[in-house]
Amino acid sequence: MGPEIKEMEAQLAEYVGVKHCVSCSSGTDALLMPLLAWDVGPGDAVFTTPFTFIATAEVIQLLGATPIFVDIDPKTYNISPELLDESIAQVIEAGELNPKVVIPVDLFGLPADYAAIELIEKKYDIKILEDAAQGFGGQIDDRLAGSFGDAASTSFFPAKPLGCYGDGGAIFTDDDDLYEKLVSVRVHGKGGDKYDNVRIGLNGRMDTLQAAIVLEKFTLFPTEVKLRNKVADQYSALLSDRVVVPEVSSGYTSVWAQYSILAKDADDRASLQAKLKEAGIPSAVYYPKPLHQQTAFNHLDYKDGDFPVSEEMSQRIFSLPMHPYLETADIEKICKVLNS
Ligand SMILES: *Cc1c(COP(=O)(O)O)cnc(C)c1O
Repeated sequence: MGPEIKEMEAQLAEYVGVKHCVSCSSGTDALLMPLLAWDVGPGDAVFTTPFTFIATAEVIQLLGATPIFVDIDPKTYNISPELLDESIAQVIEAGELNPKVVIPVDLFGLPADYAAIELIEKKYDIKILEDAAQGFGGQIDDRLAGSFGDAASTSFFPAKPLGCYGDGGAIFTDDDDLYEKLVSVRVHGKGGDKYDNVRIGLNGRMDTLQAAIVLEKFTLFPTEVKLRNKVADQYSALLSDRVVVPEVSSGYTSVWAQYSILAKDADDRASLQAKLKEAGIPSAVYYPKPLHQQTAFNHLDYKDGDFPVSEEMSQRIFSLPMHPYLETADIEKICKVLNS
């Protein structure tokens, strides 16, 4: 908790345009801490997408609450607001769980549809926790990722758009009461001091050394967001109809944590990835198995076919090399291999 921590929190809060930033040990703890502060636990339903990294749903289960998965929009890969509305109504109808929080994920760097999700939040009086681990740096009109919902979390894991050299994360909020609770949760639920404990918390501090690295990399970050968008635009212009390229709706800016495209089916994807590999070009699949099909969530009793869009995308999607300094010649080479 050295001086760079406070400096980084101040700079990031100003950039995002919210009152408070609380740094913490990882993007996973950045999701866990607001849920802890809101007393989420057994009997509570927390809604999220099955097409995300395990951490998003893991924190719900860790607190003994029930993850309720909601399928994604096939164009954005983000949670479908229409299906979210239906799913909350079903949970209320069943009368067993209390709908408490929705965790939309800004997948691959594209913010979720917060205009629609905020209407649902008001309709059912639930909270929104934005998972901006991949979205930090993205925006909708002039609002930055990290400013949506009651709180937002991000990650500084090295593979994220703004990474440090190890683990780190941060939570953003305008809510003064939540801010006080997060500061307490971060250090073992401290009250007056760390030997006075008023709630159950964590050892959730971020290292000062990692904050110093984020501060230095942050000086380049706004430029890097522009460069990432240039790379994405070049890919989308050069790739033929052989694959489906990502769509960004008007008003939205992605930070392109991943540039992900769709093959025709699983076999087609395997052959395209093999061609890339032969040419010395790496590619990766995010995510090969939706969360409702993971062994860790067997107890939720979901079955194959429950989330058809997530299941289809997991068979067809793959991601191309993406970073701010990818050169035009390399982009052209990658597209040539895929188009041939
Ligand atoms: C990376 C990631 C996390 C977790 O962040 P860590 O810093 O690795 O704990 C959570 N959600 C999403 C969507 C992520 O991509």
